[in-house]
Amino acid sequence: MSASLLNRLRDTVGASHVLTDTDAEAYLTDQHRRITGRALAVVRPASTEQVAQVVRLCVKHRTPIVPQGGNTGLMGAATPDGSGRAIVLSLTRLQRIRAIDTDNDTLTVEAGAVLAKVQQAAREAGRLFPLSLGSEGSCTIGGNLSTNAGGTQVLRYGNTRELALGLEVVTAEGEIWHGLRGLRKDNTGYALRDLYVGSEGTLGIITAATLKLYPLPQAQHTALLAFGCIRDAVAFLSAARAGFGASLTAFELMSGTALGLIARHAPEYPIPLALNAPWYALIELSDAEGEAHARERFEAVVGQAFEDGLVQDAAIAESLQQSQALWRLRDEALGEAQKRDGSNVKHDVSVPISRIPDFLVATAAALQARFPGVRPVAFGHLGDGNLHYNVSPPLDGRPADTFAVEDAIHEVVHDSVHAHGGSISAEHGIGQTKRDVLPRYKSAVELNLMHRLKAAFDPLGLLNPGKVLAQPASHPHTE
Ligand code: FAD
Repeated sequence: MSASLLNRLRDTVGASHVLTDTDAEAYLTDQHRRITGRALAVVRPASTEQVAQVVRLCVKHRTPIVPQGGNTGLMGAATPDGSGRAIVLSLTRLQRIRAIDTDNDTLTVEAGAVLAKVQQAAREAGRLFPLSLGSEGSCTIGGNLSTNAGGTQVLRYGNTRELALGLEVVTAEGEIWHGLRGLRKDNTGYALRDLYVGSEGTLGIITAATLKLYPLPQAQHTALLAFGCIRDAVAFLSAARAGFGASLTAFELMSGTALGLIARHAPEYPIPLALNAPWYALIELSDAEGEAHARERFEAVVGQAFEDGLVQDAAIAESLQQSQALWRLRDEALGEAQKRDGSNVKHDVSVPISRIPDFLVATAAALQARFPGVRPVAFGHLGDGNLHYNVSPPLDGRPADTFAVEDAIHEVVHDSVHAHGGSISAEHGIGQTKRDVLPRYKSAVELNLMHRLKAAFDPLGLLNPGKVLAQPASHPHTE
């Protein structure tokens, strides 16, 4: 049966776009290189119609489908299981910008387009597409939508869901839903678009999207600020929101420990402040009215914060190069320094901003009580209540000892997140990595609704099985 399916797939997308054996390998391992699966083949269609045909063939042959974009996701959601029964459906050949409408401030693009190319197409049209992530050079719009990616500009522009006006989707039956509406108002029933966004390829295959564009900012100001305690950082966030309004486009928190790792392991990235504070934040103001206006507002808000004793120290970028150097600390140096420091146990969580100080104290205490000496390294998008809370091994400990208790560390952190009203996945989704812990933090009612939704959209359970939700034993293709 699989030989006949492979032949039909080759007829549909071209023999050179049905990859098997070593050609397929790069698609079968996740971004962290921790999960490797197997697949019948990697199939690379070039159009929405071809995607629909591939899905119909898979339905006929009861073959599971694992959609994949740039394969930069961090939860193993685009990696097939070890059975070798699924195909990986790579969307990367669907990469056309179909339309840019500057009167409507929208851009319509195919799902496999790389995010950086979409940003550039918007810039060339004199507009901003504000989604911005560390992986923007290789992640795709389809992957961003399917994970509802966040990034550094969520504070001002929202997650990917807020940036999507319309979608084109191939359903689990292989039909095409032409939902590419460029409407900011559309109250005509259930919001299907919002269900597909964030569904990690389990409800449908996104083939194109109509996205919102914004005016390009006329001036930007960036600064690195030091705070005497986390409560001061939270209080300054409120002051900055009040003072800058919608012009506050980033508020990236970094602990003193995190910057200390950069100083120790990645000194090629200079830090323009003394490292004697427990918390720092990189903030950015994007002003529509020009340089002088931006500087005046910036100096007023930061100056007041100094007077109020909220800010201890500040390095304000005076040029584009200095601003880029500050952003490199957040985007590159932090990851590089942690890599050189050794592996750590990662968490991507969110907590209501007002509860972040209590969460940090309680979690650090709970960790120390059970795993003495571990080093929490916290940073993240404070304006969204989103922390990347990584736990590094004790300085004098063996990393292997910490990884042996990785699940117990996750449980301590996630239990604390839950107790503080938070979410165990702020940005990266559930995939397969967090699938089995999800039921601990969702109510039976919510999980049941999710299972019923999945069954309604994908009755045969062929779309990305075993991701987000465990596969019910009764599904035909698992028999
Ligand atoms: P993939 O990894 O290929 O897939 C991710 C999921 O989407 C899978 O479930 C897959 O099945 C599904 N999928 C992909 N394409 C489609 C499609 N067309 N239709 C249906 N389902 C599809 N995330 C953030 O939110 N914020 C960050 O700041 C951030 N920073 C990152 C920095 C780095 C260095 C890295 C490596 C990752 C980062 N991420 C971040 C993770 C982020 O989720 C991904 O980078 C991105 O959104 C995934 O896009 P992708 O094309 O690589 O998707």
